Amino acid sequence: MWQTEPADSTLTCPFCGLACDDLRVATDGVDRPTLVNGCATAQQAFSTALAQAPGSPQIAGRPVALDAAITRAADLLAAAHAPLFGGLVADVNGMRAIMDLADHQGALLDHVGGDALFRNLLVLQDSGWMTATLTEVRNRADLILLLGNQCTHRFPRLIERVLLPTDALFSPPGQRSLVLLGGWDQESLPAALAAANPTLIPVANADLAGVCGLLRGLIAGRPVRTNAIPGVSGLQLEDLAGRLRTARYTVVIWAAAELDFPHAELTIQGFVELVRDLNRTTRAAALPLAGTLGDVTVNQVCTWQTGYPLRSGRQQNRLRYEPVLYRHQDLLAGGYCDLLLWVQALAGAATAAVPITARPTIVLGHPGMACERVPEVFIPVGLPGVDHPGHWYRSDAVCPLPLGQVRDVGLPSVAQVIGMLGERLRVQHG
Ligand code: SF4
Repeated sequence: MWQTEPADSTLTCPFCGLACDDLRVATDGVDRPTLVNGCATAQQAFSTALAQAPGSPQIAGRPVALDAAITRAADLLAAAHAPLFGGLVADVNGMRAIMDLADHQGALLDHVGGDALFRNLLVLQDSGWMTATLTEVRNRADLILLLGNQCTHRFPRLIERVLLPTDALFSPPGQRSLVLLGGWDQESLPAALAAANPTLIPVANADLAGVCGLLRGLIAGRPVRTNAIPGVSGLQLEDLAGRLRTARYTVVIWAAAELDFPHAELTIQGFVELVRDLNRTTRAAALPLAGTLGDVTVNQVCTWQTGYPLRSGRQQNRLRYEPVLYRHQDLLAGGYCDLLLWVQALAGAATAAVPITARPTIVLGHPGMACERVPEVFIPVGLPGVDHPGHWYRSDAVCPLPLGQVRDVGLPSVAQVIGMLGERLRVQHG
C-alpha cells in the first residue's frame, strides 16, 4: 500500500471530479472543525460527514463487533461462486485492495456510475480522443463549447477554476468566448457565466450529435442543411462554424453523467470527431468531465493492474472484459451473480441506495448510509479525505492527488476492511 504523508495546511476535496486542492479546515479547539474554503457542495458534504457518528458494524441489522462482521462476510464470500463487487466508491488504496480480493474470489467489478463512465470509455476505446487537462484549458482556451446544461452544477467550481479564472497564462479570460449548447435560457444561466456574455444555442441533449455533425460539415466546406434540427438557428450554426475555424484553441466540454439516454456514446463520438476535425487546421481539445465518486480513480487502478477497465473480472481462471454484459444492474436483474459486495465510502446523488437484490449482500458504507433492504452484513468505513488520507484521481486523470484527513473517530478504511476480509478468507477457507 502507498504510504501517505500527513495532510498539510490544505486539503483535497473528494466530493466532485474537480478535486479542488485549496480547501482548509479551521479548528478552535472547542467546536467541530469547519471548512473555510470550497463550494456549497463541499461545505454541505464535509459538514454532513463530520456530523456523523462512526456507527457500528451490523449483521442482519443487529450491531456486532467488527471481528464478527468480518467473519460473517468472509463466510458469505467463501460460499459464493459468482460474486459481484459493485459501487466501488473508494480511493486508490481501497481499490487496490478490492482488486486483490476480486482476483482471489473471481468477482466481477462495476462502479455505481458505470453507465456514465462507459459512455466515454467506449469512444476512447473505439477511436481514441484528444483531451486536455484542467490546467491546459484554464491557461490556453480561447473558445469554449459547453455541451448540455449540467456541467457547472455537477462541478461547482468549474467556472471559477477553469472556464473564467481571474488570470490565465496564455489566453486572457476576458477575451475568452463561451458558447453554451444545451437546455439553457437567460433565467437558468449562473450569474458568473452570464457575466461572460456567452452565446446561447438552445438544443436538446439528444440533438447535440446532430449539431456537431452540421458543424463538421460547415467547417469542411460541404453543403449542409443548417436548419435540419428543429429549434436550432442555421445562422447561429454558420456563425459558430466560422468561430471554430478561426479560434486558436477550442475546448469542447461535456459531463457524460448528464447524457443519460440510449446510445449516448454515439453523441460523445460526435463531440470527439468535431475536435479531431478542428485539429486539421487549428488546435482543439476535449474535456470530458468525470471523476465524481471515484469512477476515474477506480478505473485507473483497474486498468493499470489488469490492462482492462472496469466491467471486467477473473472468470474460469482468465480475465474477461465485457463492457455491456457486466453492467451491474443487468447482472443483478438477470440473476447472474450470487453475492453482492457493495462499496460506497462517500455519499453523493448518484448513490441514493444500495441495489436491492435477493442475493446475500455485504455493504461497506460511509456511516450515514441508508440501505432500503437490510444487508446481511454492514460495515461502516471511513471517508477518504475526511477519515483517512489517501489518493484520488480528478477528472482529467493526469495524476493522483493526495487526500488529507480531517478527523479520527476510529473508522477503518475500505483498504483495511477488505484486507481483513482477505486475510480471514485465507485463514479460514484456504
Ligand atoms: S467544486 Fe467539487 S472538488 Fe471543488 S470544492 Fe466543490 S465539490 Fe469539492
